[in-house]
Amino acid sequence: MRCADSTLMDANHALEKLKAGNQRYATGQLMHHHQSGSRMRAVAPGQHPFAVILGCADSRVPPEIIFDQGLGDLFVIRVAGNIVDDAILGSIEYAAAELGTSLVLVLGHERCGAVAATIKHAEVLGHISTLLKAIQPAVDRVKDEPGDVLDNAVRANVELVVDQLKSSFPVAELVKCNKLQVVGAQYNLDCGTVDIIARLIGGKDFSQPLIDDLGSPNCDRLFQTRLIEIAHQFAVIAAIVFPNV
Ligand SMILES: [Zn+2]
Repeated sequence: MRCADSTLMDANHALEKLKAGNQRYATGQLMHHHQSGSRMRAVAPGQHPFAVILGCADSRVPPEIIFDQGLGDLFVIRVAGNIVDDAILGSIEYAAAELGTSLVLVLGHERCGAVAATIKHAEVLGHISTLLKAIQPAVDRVKDEPGDVLDNAVRANVELVVDQLKSSFPVAELVKCNKLQVVGAQYNLDCGTVDIIARLIGGKDFSQPLIDDLGSPNCDRLFQTRLIEIAHQFAVIAAIVFPNV
């Protein structure tokens, strides 16, 4: 496969757009752009979405809303547990190869019901077992890890899906050529922010523990900031009440 060298910049730009949109969402400053009739007519002849989002079907994690995007912006694939199968791989390949999309973001989320059911070895009906089988390797990977097993498994599930994409042809070739960037991320249900878990650039795995790579207001950071504010207020009050101490 011939490699082009310009697409990585497009992928970084795409990630910046997601970052800005998530920041607007998490801080209550939604713009709702690209949701008008004129946008509908503008994209009717063809689509050029700037990012693929492979996310969970959970009703609390709709990509267009949490990234504040509109019609024609995102190529969204949703399935419980954000797993990968051949049909989903085909959809990602279509977006990358035919639509020119340069970024794939695999989006897990806190307290994912599909992952929780897998941990519990829940007895399920019908085809739900297919989902749980796909998630089981993530649960197995973290079974001896310290910390919250559900949080660990959600993160491991995203990492394993990124690994699956990394090793699948032709996605792997597109990544190697810098034509496509694959990013793993986790959505925080409580504060609406998205944290990067794993990133692939040029075939290298830049996995990192949960960091605030999208630049959004991180839940922990918000809490720490609030604590500092309270401590500062306490010091001011103490100086007034006990001026000689
Ligand atoms: Zn879920």
